[in-house]
Amino acid sequence: MTVISGTHLGEIEIEDQTIVRIDPAKKGGLIALPGLVDLHTHLREPGREDAETVESGSRAAALGGYTAVCAMANTSPVADTAGVVEQVWRLGREAGLVDVQPVGAVTVGLAGEQLAELGAMADSAARVRVFSDDGHCVSDPRLMRRALEYVKAFDGVVAQHAEEPRLTVGAQMNEGEVAARLGLTGWPAVAEEAIIARDALMAGHVGARLHVCHVSTAGSVELIRWAKSKGWRVTAEVTPHHLLLTEDRATGYDPVFKVNPPLRTQADVDALRAGLRDGTIDCVATDHAPHSVEDKECEWAYARPGMLGLETALAIVVKTMGPDWDRIAEWMSAAPARIAGLQGHGHAVEVGAPANIALFDPAVTWTVDPTALASRSRNTPYAGTELRGRIVATYLRGEPTVLNGKATR
Ligand SMILES: [Zn+2]
Repeated sequence: MTVISGTHLGEIEIEDQTIVRIDPAKKGGLIALPGLVDLHTHLREPGREDAETVESGSRAAALGGYTAVCAMANTSPVADTAGVVEQVWRLGREAGLVDVQPVGAVTVGLAGEQLAELGAMADSAARVRVFSDDGHCVSDPRLMRRALEYVKAFDGVVAQHAEEPRLTVGAQMNEGEVAARLGLTGWPAVAEEAIIARDALMAGHVGARLHVCHVSTAGSVELIRWAKSKGWRVTAEVTPHHLLLTEDRATGYDPVFKVNPPLRTQADVDALRAGLRDGTIDCVATDHAPHSVEDKECEWAYARPGMLGLETALAIVVKTMGPDWDRIAEWMSAAPARIAGLQGHGHAVEVGAPANIALFDPAVTWTVDPTALASRSRNTPYAGTELRGRIVATYLRGEPTVLNGKATR
C-alpha cells in the first residue's frame, strides 16, 4: 500500500493501482490532481533523437504531472503505418514514465495526397484513435472529408492543424502592425479561421469528430462556439503559451518565441482565456515541440517554430487561469482523456479511481533553467522566468514516476 499525505483532499491510500481510501481529516497544502493528459506532444523519435526521445519526453511529461501523452506523427519516418505507431507505443512502454499514445498520420508521409492506413493503425497494438498531420494542415477538403468518414467507423477523431497553406507561404509571425514594423512576413488569423470553418461544416455534414489543434485567434473561438451551438462534434485545445504570450515577444527577434501558429495579440489571448473558461475550448494541450540548438538558436527566419511545454504547462495555466483546481483537472486531464479515448486516465481523484495522480505544490516558486529541464532540447520561452507552483510527485497506476520533484527512472 502507498500513502500520499498532505493533499488538499486529505490522505490518499493506494492499493492495486487504485485509490482505496481518502481521509479528509488529514488535509494539507499539496494539490492532488488527476494525472495530466497531453493531447499534443512531439517526442521526435524516431528520427530526431538529438532533439528528444520517447524516454526523455516521457520524463519531461512525468515531471510536469502528466501520466499520458499523445505523441504526434511528424517523426522520421512518419507515423503513418501500423509498424511505426507500434514502435512508438512500445518505446513508451519501455520508458514506463507515462502512457505514450501514438497519434497516426492522416496522409502518407504527411504529404496531403493520399490517405494513410488509418484502419491498420487503429487495429494495431497501439490502438490509434487520434489522427493528425500536425505540422501540416490537411488542406485538401476531399481528403479531409474521407478521413472524417473513415475515423467515424471506430469513433476516432481527426485533429487538424488549421492553416490554409496558400495564405501562410513564408510566414514568420502573426500578421499585423508588429510584423510590418519588424519586416517579417505575416501569418494571418484568417488562414486558421478559414480551415476551422470549413472543417466544422464538414464534421457536421459527416457526423464525425473533429478536434482543432492549438486554437490561437479570437475569430477561431467564435467559430468553434458556433460549431458547438449546431451540435456538431467539434472539440478544441489551446496551448499554455497562447494563453500567456503575445506577438510583442517577437520584437527582440529571439527565435525561442517563434511558434506555429504564431503568438497573437492581447485581444486574442483574452478571447482564448474566455473561450476556455466558458467551455468553447475544451482543453489545454502543450504542443511541446523540442528543437535542437542548430535548428532553433539561429536567425529568426531560419529557426524552426515550436516551444517546449511539458514541464511548465501547469504553472502557466495556474498563472493565466487562476488556481481553480476542478476546472484545471477538467482542462488538463478529463477532457483530453475523453477526446483521445484514454479510458484509464482523466478520472477525478476519488475512491475507486485508477491511481494516476499529480501532486502540485502551489506555494513554491522556481526559476526556469533550460539546462535543468529533462527535455533534450532547451527551447523554453520561460528561461529565467520565475514561476509559482511545481509538481512534486506523479503516480502512474500507483507507482511513483516523480518523487520530491525528481524522476524515479
Ligand atoms: Zn500544429
